Amino acid sequence: MVDNLYVVTPRGFCAGVEMAIKALTWMLKIYDEPVYCYHEIVHNDWIVQKFKEKNVIFIEDPKELPTDSIVMLSAHGTAPKVEMEFKNISMTSVNSVCPLVTKVHHEAKKFSENGKKIIYVGHKNHDEAIGALGVAPNNMILVETVEDLDNNSLQNENVALLAQTTLAMSEWEPILNKARSEYENIELPRKSDLCYATTNRQKALINISNKVDKVLVVGSSTSSNTNALVTTINNLGKEAYRIETLADLRNLDLDGTDVAITAGASAPDHIVKEITEHLNPNNLEFYIDTTEEEYFPLPKELRRNITGLSKLLKNMFPKNDKDALNGISKDKSWSATEALSSL
Ligand code: SF4
Repeated sequence: MVDNLYVVTPRGFCAGVEMAIKALTWMLKIYDEPVYCYHEIVHNDWIVQKFKEKNVIFIEDPKELPTDSIVMLSAHGTAPKVEMEFKNISMTSVNSVCPLVTKVHHEAKKFSENGKKIIYVGHKNHDEAIGALGVAPNNMILVETVEDLDNNSLQNENVALLAQTTLAMSEWEPILNKARSEYENIELPRKSDLCYATTNRQKALINISNKVDKVLVVGSSTSSNTNALVTTINNLGKEAYRIETLADLRNLDLDGTDVAITAGASAPDHIVKEITEHLNPNNLEFYIDTTEEEYFPLPKELRRNITGLSKLLKNMFPKNDKDALNGISKDKSWSATEALSSL
């Protein structure tokens, strides 16, 4: 039996994931099915499966989209050229990119227009990296490691440094330090590209790590920020295990140990609860490192359509409860977990 179990806050859904899940839920409610989604809506198998069961079809290329269909672009951000292809083929295209990914796209555009070569630190083939590199494909290179930085071809160029939002701080900082020493006039964004959710979850784990022997991180293998949480703890010389479902606990020996449990930004909290109940520790504590208030509104094209629809319904059925028809005004207090339960 686990001795002390610490359930860490913040964990799980970030504001970008909340927004994307609610956006796709709204789309299923107001448009004819099937609804298409470019890339996995968020990198979590349970959530993707839940939407597949409701007739969402996930695609990896605009060519897979039938003409005049409805499509949502995922939270990870889409290259401008690809977004345009989707707009041209679809009847309605809703971009649910996280605003913090959009920030990186804006920086890439600005630096590129100012004649900079951009070193983008990220994971090859990750959806977010593919989207960001598509903003200025001729002026951007990808590096994943300090060694990649040594081997790149930009030795004497005017350089800017950007990053995928979900890196481990321990992946980003050595590359940042090395780049600063290599390029005298290197330009960086005013505010770090690593997003608040990524850094808050990592800092919380670092702060609790002295108290525990092992860490469980709930999330899918495709989730970059989940893997970053595992890396963060491993770099401290401690054991961390990524857990997708209860079944993954099977081969772990947690008897007599002190354990912390957290979740990546796309992992639903009911899995954390199931695991916590299953472990049934001698002592359960809720460790709150910091609280998060961030809220990202739904994509504007979707807000416009929902508002129009609400207005139409109010005019057609004036006796109906006003609040029941005004979904948009309640969006801030409607959680992604409630949205998923409503499917
Ligand atoms: S992890 Fe950060 S960048 Fe990614 S969706 Fe969440 S808030 Fe946005």
